[in-house]
Amino acid sequence: MTSAPLLTARRLSVTGVVQGVGFRPFVHRLAVRLGVAGWVRNVAGTVEIHLEGSAAQCDAFAAALTREAPPLARLHAVTAADTGVEGAAGFTIAESADADTLRPVPPDVAICAQCERELFDPHNRRYRHPFITCTDCGPRYTIIDALPYDRGRTSMKVFGLCARCATEYAASDDRRFHAETVACPDCGPRVWFEGADGEGSADGDTAILLAATALRMGAVVGVRGLGGFHLAADATNDAAVRRLRLRKHRDAKPLAVMVRTLDQARAVAHVSKREAEALTSSARPIVLLRPRDPSPLAPSLAPRLDRVGLMLAYTPLHHLLLEAAERPLVMTSGNVSDEPIAIGLEEGRARLRPLVDAFLMHDRDILSRCDDSVLRVAGAHDILLRRARGHAPAPLALPVPAPQPLVAVGPHLKNTFTLAREGAAFVSPHIGDLDGLEALEHWQQAYRRYQALFRVAPAVAVRDLHPGYLSTRIAEELGLSRVIAVQHHHAHVAAVAAEHGVTSRVVGLAYDGTGYGDDGHTWGAEVLLADLSGYQRVAQLRYVPLPGGDAAAREPWRVALGYESQAGWQSEAFALAYHGVSHTLRSGVQQQVAHGVNAPLASSMGRLFDAAAAVLGVRRHASFEGQAAMELEALAGEQSAPPLPFPTIEADGRLHLDPVPLLTALGEGRRHGVDVGLLAARFHESLVEASVDLARLIAGSFGIDTVVLSGGTFQNARLLTRVARRLTEARLRVLTARTLGPNDGAISYGQAAVASWLLSHE
Ligand code: ZN
Ligand code: ZN
Ligand code: FE
Repeated sequence: MTSAPLLTARRLSVTGVVQGVGFRPFVHRLAVRLGVAGWVRNVAGTVEIHLEGSAAQCDAFAAALTREAPPLARLHAVTAADTGVEGAAGFTIAESADADTLRPVPPDVAICAQCERELFDPHNRRYRHPFITCTDCGPRYTIIDALPYDRGRTSMKVFGLCARCATEYAASDDRRFHAETVACPDCGPRVWFEGADGEGSADGDTAILLAATALRMGAVVGVRGLGGFHLAADATNDAAVRRLRLRKHRDAKPLAVMVRTLDQARAVAHVSKREAEALTSSARPIVLLRPRDPSPLAPSLAPRLDRVGLMLAYTPLHHLLLEAAERPLVMTSGNVSDEPIAIGLEEGRARLRPLVDAFLMHDRDILSRCDDSVLRVAGAHDILLRRARGHAPAPLALPVPAPQPLVAVGPHLKNTFTLAREGAAFVSPHIGDLDGLEALEHWQQAYRRYQALFRVAPAVAVRDLHPGYLSTRIAEELGLSRVIAVQHHHAHVAAVAAEHGVTSRVVGLAYDGTGYGDDGHTWGAEVLLADLSGYQRVAQLRYVPLPGGDAAAREPWRVALGYESQAGWQSEAFALAYHGVSHTLRSGVQQQVAHGVNAPLASSMGRLFDAAAAVLGVRRHASFEGQAAMELEALAGEQSAPPLPFPTIEADGRLHLDPVPLLTALGEGRRHGVDVGLLAARFHESLVEASVDLARLIAGSFGIDTVVLSGGTFQNARLLTRVARRLTEARLRVLTARTLGPNDGAISYGQAAVASWLLSHE
């Protein structure tokens, strides 16, 4: 006698990045292949799978599930439990259950290799279709209006599927099975070319050809892309690049360049293995690379810097445009100066018309603004300089769950905000500096969108300690019952510790340009003994008066002058800093310092770099934050050099690093004709040496084994890699920023981590 194999029913629950990545279609194909019945559905950020079949079939299914998961899926946990048999017939994809819980929205994904092949395959029906996608690739966050993720809740909803696309969408063995963004030339979005005056238009391939031709002739073209408009120009044409700079009011900040393929990237820059991985990753960030010498790229792309920002085409539209242009293209945010990037059709026309000669437009609406992410590879470290497209809005874990939903509004510069609910932190993409009405509106739009997408209704706001920041006003005006203030550098250290899940006390180095200190002074070179509950400031850079306050950040010679006041005013070593500064202005500023008028005290590492650059005669005026530091790093290169004197003084129960002897030695060296690159290297080594000594000393005296490196100054690859290596050699555990960058983009997450701890312990 034989009996039918016993029918079992099993319920699998899968968490991780499993929505919007073609996971349910994959589950369906797998079930059909293995002959199990049941269903799959999205429930509140997890995927629930009901299986009915023999025990062996269910086991095989579970094994294949993790082994064969689609490339973009990341499975964090799979749980399985036996359940009652429902008598399922076949395998179905069930409607999404719309529960009010955490639901990750997937980040946008660069065009996949298969779609890229089809794009250039004349026999494919999507040949040269600028919106080709599949379940493995395409827009997500920027086009999703609400969850669960399906076409009806995206800006693709206005494009009804044609019969052939509908067939692919419904066929479980097709790569586009349940691909919510599926489209083709018959039913998908359109591209067109229009003059800056709105006149003249052509669509399809002709539009792309016209845009490419305009670019080749030196025009600036506004290109509506994935997360907003880009301003495009021929990256090999210096006149075109300079014209773009002039119109964008961006005189020196580096401009990013897009090429189509990795080989093309290699033709213009040196690309290491790790850098190649980053360039071709599905996030496709801008990667800072060392340009080839000689370089076909325009010199004014990144003046006086040793890196150029390069990215690969990440949408089919970019591929087609670059193929037609046959050269690298500048692709920089479509905005004036540091305003938010334009996204809407009318908005783009209105704001960018004065900047461009023509537009390459499309009619797939962008619902969320998202800039390009920027990455730098430094030895074993990936330094994320800007976290946006391809990363946001993937959640980060909080080491201590938020007992109440909260919003951390972030800092003043390089702002992001963070929504936290339970153990998940949703960090917004890069928003930018919170100056002006446009930035405020952008912040509020992004905040509303995040609230809706993640269904977080904050009860608590978290803000910076600075009483005067716009972010502080935003936090106070949200009307929440409670507002918690977190010190800027505490947030820096907390952010790095928290992303590593570390809640114990650490020695935290927080080096950056500026942050409001709890003594009312400007901080920016702090060594904190810190955990999420609080901090103690154990060491700092000696305070210096910054004549003119904010003006000092744009005029490094003023910082040098502040330091010269501490050297007794007689120092010939500082002379180069004032080259080109009028005698009247200089003596006026001297008076300012002498009488303490508008000369706030600061302990800023960013300003120390400025002072060093001024004393070395490298830079007396800065057009963007960090410019002097980037140039000094470029000058230093990799050459080894002994440190200069950088002594520590004990006062007020703290250690104070005194940079006056260091700056004096730099100026003296320069006066005696020492190579400026060597002096820049010696400056870096002095910071490395002092930082390592301080961290070791403090870790030793307090019995701590972990050191956190945080703050924008650690975007400096030379400083980061050397400090990290030396501390590791000293058997200390070194934590650096990974998922978020070291700069102020991480502040909101640090604020959220601190506030969650505080709320959980009261
Ligand atoms: Zn694809
Ligand atoms: Zn179609
Ligand atoms: Fe900072």
